Formats: sequence, C-alpha cells, structure tokens
Amino acid sequence: MSIRKGKNYPYGIHIPDMKYLCASSPIEVMPAPNKLFISLSQHIGAPAIPVVAPGDEVKKGQIIGKESGAISANIYSSVSGKVLSIEEIVNGVGQKQKYIVIENDFKNEEVLFPDMKDFEAQSIIDRIRLAGIVGLGGAGFPTAVKLSPKSPLEILVINGAECEPYLNCDNRLMLERTDDIFKGINYVAKALNVKRIIIGIEKNKPEALEAFSKYEGFEVVALKKQYPVGSEKHLIYCTTGRKVPVGKMPFDVGCCVQNIKTMIACYEAIELNKPLTEIVMTVSGLGINSPKNLKVAIGTPFEDIIKYCGGLKENTVKLVCGGPMMGKALANTVKFASKTDSGLIALSGEECSVAQPSNCINCARCANNCPMRLMPMYIESCALAGDFVGAEKYGAMNCIECGSCAYNCPAKRALVESIRFAKAKIKEAKQNGK
Ligand code: SF4
Ligand code: SF4
Repeated sequence: MSIRKGKNYPYGIHIPDMKYLCASSPIEVMPAPNKLFISLSQHIGAPAIPVVAPGDEVKKGQIIGKESGAISANIYSSVSGKVLSIEEIVNGVGQKQKYIVIENDFKNEEVLFPDMKDFEAQSIIDRIRLAGIVGLGGAGFPTAVKLSPKSPLEILVINGAECEPYLNCDNRLMLERTDDIFKGINYVAKALNVKRIIIGIEKNKPEALEAFSKYEGFEVVALKKQYPVGSEKHLIYCTTGRKVPVGKMPFDVGCCVQNIKTMIACYEAIELNKPLTEIVMTVSGLGINSPKNLKVAIGTPFEDIIKYCGGLKENTVKLVCGGPMMGKALANTVKFASKTDSGLIALSGEECSVAQPSNCINCARCANNCPMRLMPMYIESCALAGDFVGAEKYGAMNCIECGSCAYNCPAKRALVESIRFAKAKIKEAKQNGK
C-alpha cells in the first residue's frame, strides 16, 4: 500500500520533539516489583468494584475489580501474590483513588481466558469488554463502548501520530509489533463493520510509515509534524478531510479513532486470551539517567520505575505523568502505573521553566496558537473569577487540553490548569441540573 500525504491544517505549533533520547531504544521488560498498587479507577466512568479482600491469594490475570456500570472497566492482577490491603491514596497528580495493594510472590502463576468460540463482531466486543480494555492513548474510555456506536460508522482511524514530545512507545510498538497491531486493527474493524481503515503516522517516524506500507487493506497517511496532529479531531481532518463540528464526536462524522496500544491489547485479549495487565511507557527527559521505553506491570510504583531507569539527575525540576504537553505534573512520586500512562518525563531546568506566572499582557499569542480557535486568556480570567457560565460561553468545553496556549505564553500563565478547573465546574453544575 502506498503512503499518501495527509491534509494540512493551518493551526498548531512546532515544538522540539526530543524523541532522540530513546527513539532507538527497543522496549525493555521491567521485572514486576515487590508491591503493586492497582487503581480501581483507571478509566473514564464508574470505578471498578473490588472482588478480592485482604489476605486473598491471586494469580496474574485474575479479576480483582469488576466493572460497575455501562461506562466502566474490569481490573486484573498483574502478578501472582497476596492482597495486602484495599486503601484510598491521594496520588501525585492529586487524584484520590482506591487501590488494591498486592504483594508479588514472584511465582508468576497466570490465568488466561478460554479460547473464543467464534470471532463474530459481538464476540470480539464482548472479549474486549471482559479484558478491561480502555483507550490507552490517555483518554481511558472503555473500548467496547466505543465499538458499539448507535449508528453505523464508515472509517476506522488508527492514531499512530504520537505527536507529544519525548514519547516513543507507540513508535517502538509500530516497529516491534507491526503484525500484532495489524491483527488487532482487523478485529476492531470487524467489530465496527467498517471497510475503510486509515492509519495516520507523523512524518518523523519514517520506519513506522514504511512498516505499515507493506500491509494490504490499509491507507497509510503521512502527517505533517505539527502539534497536536494526534488529537482526535485534527487526526480525522488530516486523514479523512472530515471536520468534526464543535460539540460533536468522531462518530458524528462516521469515524472511530483508536490508539496503537489499544490495538495490541485487543489482539492479546482475542488471540492470546490475556486481560490487560501491562502497559508500555516512555521514561525520558534530560532529568532521568537512563531514558527507556518500558513494558511495566500495571500497579508498578513510579519510584521503582525511576530507580530502574538509573534514578533522577540533580538538575530535575519537574516530573510529568504522560507527555509534557498534555500530561499532568506530579507533586511527588506517589503514582502507580495505570492503563492510560504513556510516559514519565523528568524535565531539567534546561527543558522547562519553573518561573512564577506574571500578569497577562494581552499579547494574544495563546489565542493565535490554539488549534481549537479559542481565546484561552478569556477562559482563564473567567475561571479565576469563578464565572463558569462565562468560561463556557468562551468555549471552555471545546478545549482539548493540548497545552499549546500555555507553551507559548510569555507570562507563563497556568492556562490549561485554569481551563481544566472551569471544565470540571461546568460539568459539576450540569450534573446538579444548574
Ligand atoms: S485553549 Fe485548550 S485547545 Fe486551545 S491551546 Fe489551550 S489547551 Fe489547547
Ligand atoms: S499568551 Fe499569556 S500573556 Fe499573552 S494573552 Fe495569552 S495569557 Fe495573556
């Protein structure tokens, strides 16, 4: 299949991608640690309900948290061992979550699902739901729900953009597990009953573009290197030319977007009978001694991951969970690998500013750089004044939290944090019927 050029969109920013730190490092498997903290809220929707109790012996792949509603996901143990406790912990990104704490017995005893009886669309969706698979690109929306649209779709778009700086895990997976991704995509296409499949990959990953161009049944699209080309709406536009209107979703224009890692998880659940118990993440930044692309057991403490990567350098000023643009800054290292974690980035003073914000100078750089054509400075001032009706009028809910505005703000305003806060308040008001 030949590679075609994606459509350009006029807005977006150009940032140093810093991929060189570990773009050529093959994925390494980190041994599971002594103690794992597995969150019951690794997805959008209702937390899973624990189905084990302290003192229980568990095996790798055994269900420990059951989905608790239509939008929820099962949680499985990533090691064999003993449940020590079920406790609430406030993690380093400020989320209070319930965790099942498991002591690893290092016996690696594993349970698998039975073989699937058939590979019909509904059986595929049922297996994906059972395996606890959610959007592993960061959104965490349960995949089985996304595969059950109310009206038929036409195009499956695979997101191979990985436009966040530093992150390399999708790129490595596209090179090292091309066949498995291909199989996962075909199962998902069958579940959706779509005939057209497009994979969009940024031009800075020529080997991945080349790898997928060898397969039939796909359209391979080379995307211009421009942040945030991997956001759902921009990816759909650049690969299909379809525009997702404000307030609408990809399915409103006949598309479903899926992530690379999610495709591998689907393949493993369907063909290898494995639930989701491991993730691949990039540990990078000039603040970490040995940047790596790592496969880790879900529940692994970030402390252990940092140690495994040689520890932090003295010049580290900031830790980020996820990519540096859309990820969340960590107040401490109390964080445990979860399904949606793509990265752990240790930034040195050279790479990021820790300057205190100063007053907005009305330069409009944030608005000029917003790929959603919003006016972040106005949304921020509404949010800070507690005027959430005003924030909504300025389009807060259309913000994709890409961070382009804050990246370019000379006054170092914490624009995204303010917008996230406004969005949470708007959602809360709607839930309370206001
Ligand atoms: S307002 Fe939202 S969408 Fe616009 S640049 Fe800022 S974070 Fe991105
Ligand atoms: S970029 Fe910063 S200083 Fe300029 S208008 Fe936006 S918030 Fe104000």
